[in-house]
Amino acid sequence: MNYRSTDSIRALLKVLPLAITHAEIMARVQVLLAQGSGGYYIALNPEKIMHAIASQDVCQLLLQAHFVYADGIGVAIASKLLQQKNIERVTGADLLLDVAALCEKEKKTIALYGASKDNIAKALQALQVAYPKLNIAFAVDGYQNDSGYITQLMQSTPPDLVFVGLGSPKQEQWIIEQVNRFPQTLFTGVGGSFDVLSGAVTRAPQWIRRIGMEWLYRIVSQPLQRYKRIKPLMLYGVRVLKERWKR
Ligand code: UDP
Repeated sequence: MNYRSTDSIRALLKVLPLAITHAEIMARVQVLLAQGSGGYYIALNPEKIMHAIASQDVCQLLLQAHFVYADGIGVAIASKLLQQKNIERVTGADLLLDVAALCEKEKKTIALYGASKDNIAKALQALQVAYPKLNIAFAVDGYQNDSGYITQLMQSTPPDLVFVGLGSPKQEQWIIEQVNRFPQTLFTGVGGSFDVLSGAVTRAPQWIRRIGMEWLYRIVSQPLQRYKRIKPLMLYGVRVLKERWKR
């Protein structure tokens, strides 16, 4: 698909393969796993939208995904304001658990890659407790010096699906490098979800999540790690409103 990097958020949303509901996401993952034809799906957030508008490469990355889903209220609001479309927001950490449950049911093998040694070990343990029959090929932290190590693991025990939690854009870059190497494996980036799963990072209370303010809770509870994200978020908000009024 041809798309110019100078285009608008509205134009981008129009061409992206955006999954609309949680049920649709799960159905698509189920089909992709059954087909075993590899590729990747991506959590879409305001930062990725802004990057896609500025960079042809990021844009192509999103366009070539099997699908993208709205991870956060920013994408849902833009879709409503610019396309009059209601899309369900699905957080990456919640989806990880749902997909893990699906893999347990379908007897598919998963792998975990990312986060600190301690957090990935605890995340692995949490998954094993929640889904005792889930087949987990390996769980490796995201601070490996030997880049060939994961490739070796992938070759010796090829998983059906790999959750990659290296943060953006690192995880997407890694996924792009792997998709051709492992054409039968499905990949997805999960950002800091292993930290959540391990219990090291606590999520916002339910009522804050329900009103779509988890992003604000994260900024307030982790100001040092999150302050760099405030400006791009503001720019995104301003741009969405500008495009809405231009109509
Ligand atoms: N991380 C990693 N290796 C790296 C850099 C980061 O494994 O070289 C991990 C980090 O430990 C954390 C996650 O990537 O678990 C990034 O989390 P963040 O919440 O920043 O990701 P986001 O979802 O916001 O992209």
